[in-house]
Amino acid sequence: MIEVQGLTKQYGEVRAVDDLTFSVKPGIVTGFLGPNGAGKSTTMRMILGLDAPTSGTATIKGQRYTELKNPLTHVGALLDAGARHPNRSAANHLRWIARSNGLPKGRVQEVLDLVGLSGVATKSSGGFSLGMGQRLGIAAALLGDPEVLILDEPVNGLDPEGIRWVRDLMKSLAAEGRTVLVSSHLLSEMALTADHLIVIGRGKLISDISTYEFIKQNSATTVVVRAEQLPRFTESLKLQGISHAESRDAENRLILEIPDRSTDEIGALAFAEGISLQELSLRQASLEDAFMGMTGDSVEYHAAAVPGAVPPTAATAVGVDKQPNQAEEK
Ligand code: ADP
Repeated sequence: MIEVQGLTKQYGEVRAVDDLTFSVKPGIVTGFLGPNGAGKSTTMRMILGLDAPTSGTATIKGQRYTELKNPLTHVGALLDAGARHPNRSAANHLRWIARSNGLPKGRVQEVLDLVGLSGVATKSSGGFSLGMGQRLGIAAALLGDPEVLILDEPVNGLDPEGIRWVRDLMKSLAAEGRTVLVSSHLLSEMALTADHLIVIGRGKLISDISTYEFIKQNSATTVVVRAEQLPRFTESLKLQGISHAESRDAENRLILEIPDRSTDEIGALAFAEGISLQELSLRQASLEDAFMGMTGDSVEYHAAAVPGAVPPTAATAVGVDKQPNQAEEK
């Protein structure tokens, strides 16, 4: 269980985290979602005692990270997968962490097996691909067999197979009753992985909601109709008090868009009016659009994209560093 209470972090002029309160429950995957620069990493660093809050508290199983005895046996974290000695082998890297944290040596082989790196355990990790590095980072996080896992953008830059592997692992760790908090700036990824979502923008809590509810609330549908007798159908809709809008499709044909209705209902109405339809389809708003709508005005670098806009400050450049990762995913 992770509890965050009124957590705030001020870096000079930048309020990276602004009065955040939420809790992360065991047994499910909780997605920590927000655009780049929203404050996800800063929050995770404060939970892990790596940054001191300006105000507020973050506790793990009721204690601050710095108060935990043998912290790696309680919390495992993946913050920066590149943080390893390039000349050291995967096995030696893990043995070193195990030794310096008083963890049993035998656990090294177990986690290597778990993340599928046993075959390359003696190879120096400097030559590892991004995906292998990510697996090694996750192996390190699991070394103490912790009840709580905190993973910052674990699928960033991974190929589809790697993404699927991380996703399945997170779900199985949660199914074992562990508390799993995983950050991402991609709703599409979180919608597939997380059971619960904590959405932030500009350091503030925007939504604390089950993924199911989020999808239900944000899956607006529109019935699209194309017909030769479109003006007559428009009249029928007006008479029924059904709101609609005229538009053009990709082939520049006139269509009607009817929000929040079913194709059954609209099809039945057309049939009753004796109007034959050339198209009757359902358009589903993308969840990503809903997410952008929620956090849109909280995205940090909008201004930087405008020609002649003031360049990002040194502080915001921290978040800008993440752009190459984003590009790798596409
Ligand atoms: P996210 O993980 O959601 O991308 P971050 O927590 O990295 O967001 O950043 C939140 C904000 O805090 C950004 O404006 C970022 O530039 C700023 N920031 C993060 N770390 C520092 C730091 N060490 N010094 C100054 N500003 C920082």
